[in-house]
Amino acid sequence: MVFDAAQQARLSRWNRRLLNGYWGIAVLTVAAASVYVTTSRWNPDYTPIAILSLHTLWMVLGLLAVEAAYLLLKRFKDYVVICGGAALSLSLITTFPQLSPSLATLFLPILASVFYFQRRKLLFAYGIALASFFLIHTTVLHVFSSSPWGERISMTAILTFGAYLGLEIRRRGHDLLQDLKSTLASEQDLLVRNILMDKMAKTDALTGLYNHRSFHEYLDELMIHGEKNGLGFHLALLDIDHFKKVNDTYGHQAGDAVLIRVAAAIREMVSPNDFPARYGGEEFALLCPESGLAELLDQLERMRLRIAGMMHPELDGNPVTISVGIHAFSKGCSKEELFDGADEALYEAKREGRNRTKVHGNEVMTLTS
Ligand code: GH3
Ligand code: MG
Ligand code: MG
Repeated sequence: MVFDAAQQARLSRWNRRLLNGYWGIAVLTVAAASVYVTTSRWNPDYTPIAILSLHTLWMVLGLLAVEAAYLLLKRFKDYVVICGGAALSLSLITTFPQLSPSLATLFLPILASVFYFQRRKLLFAYGIALASFFLIHTTVLHVFSSSPWGERISMTAILTFGAYLGLEIRRRGHDLLQDLKSTLASEQDLLVRNILMDKMAKTDALTGLYNHRSFHEYLDELMIHGEKNGLGFHLALLDIDHFKKVNDTYGHQAGDAVLIRVAAAIREMVSPNDFPARYGGEEFALLCPESGLAELLDQLERMRLRIAGMMHPELDGNPVTISVGIHAFSKGCSKEELFDGADEALYEAKREGRNRTKVHGNEVMTLTS
């Protein structure tokens, strides 16, 4: 299993917890010995044990040595913690050699190694536990045993089973991690798909500009905002002149190529807060919430002139022109009135000869070149 930096940092915290656990076991051992001494003193079978014996001292010194190694051997912290488990187990067994349950503490290094979910460390812990057992058995425990080899064989089997369980837990952890990863990957996939779907639902497939529906959604919001705060904005309708003739002369595909190029020019030349949309066919709509009329006219004139100056290879190098109608929204203006005004201005621009910009309003303004 591969660990990333964040997991390594978390592992350090787990190592600290394990070491704290070892200290907890040491404290419990002293507490248990105290309870034994105070409750069994009057028992005829009482065998005296020293609460603070040389063994306890060794246990504490051993743990301090583990702490020192933990601080010094930074690259091998996990192995130090595993060895610490074995050292604690050995000192417990030597403290209570006649208590066979103390042998169960030989599982400590194996249990500690499970935290790392790494095969290498588990096998290391198994080796350490087995070596500790044989060391303590041949030096101390065999004198208490009627069948030393039976004990050795059975303890080897138990520790092997413990290591096997640890390896299985690691495998299960690995499976869970894989599941988690694939769930995360498919969630990410879904998120990307949703974003794409959202984009597709909002944009026009041919030109990439916003589509009719999202245009109206944004317009509705602007109008609500405008009504509430009295903030005005402009609606501009841009229509390609004689586009039917373009299609009739050069074909529908050539017409499409022109639409794409004109849309790209519009997108490039709008301000960041403008909302450019393909309103339908060869008609584009622009919502400009932040520009004043003079600024907007300047922007749209530059756009009109740029489009008129573009040569289209599909049209044998000929250009197309656009006519523009502008209407300003002000508080109290309905959506229908807003569009009627822009349409009227556009119609005027067409009627007066196309390739020009007209503003609907009290001071009707015409811009052409
Ligand atoms: P005017 O200057 O008055 O606007 O004349 P026009 O020919 O541009 O206007 P009209 O409304 O008569 O024709 C619009 C044409 O736009 C008709 C249609 O074939 C063409 N058109 C609409 N949508 C598309 C499209 O997606 N691709 C192509 N190639 N042509 C389209
Ligand atoms: Mg047209
Ligand atoms: Mg039209």
